[in-house]
Amino acid sequence: MPLHLPQRGHTVTALHVCRHCDGLITDPDDAVFLWHEAALSGPGWDVYAHREHADLVEPDPTPIRILARVLIARALSDG
Ligand SMILES: [Zn+2]
Repeated sequence: MPLHLPQRGHTVTALHVCRHCDGLITDPDDAVFLWHEAALSGPGWDVYAHREHADLVEPDPTPIRILARVLIARALSDG
């Protein structure tokens, strides 16, 4: 009789940190996906917030920061 391997894939529950209050979101039903944040190296990460806090999170400033960094690097390389 072949070994029955346990099903995998549904046992891993990723815990998310609320972007607004930095609290751990322990209830998956309470986690609201906001956006995916790109990382310079690696796949990046997903940003979540508590359902009550999702409306309080500021818009993603990351593209502005990246743009500023590009402009600074360009200004420096131009001399
Ligand atoms: Zn929160």
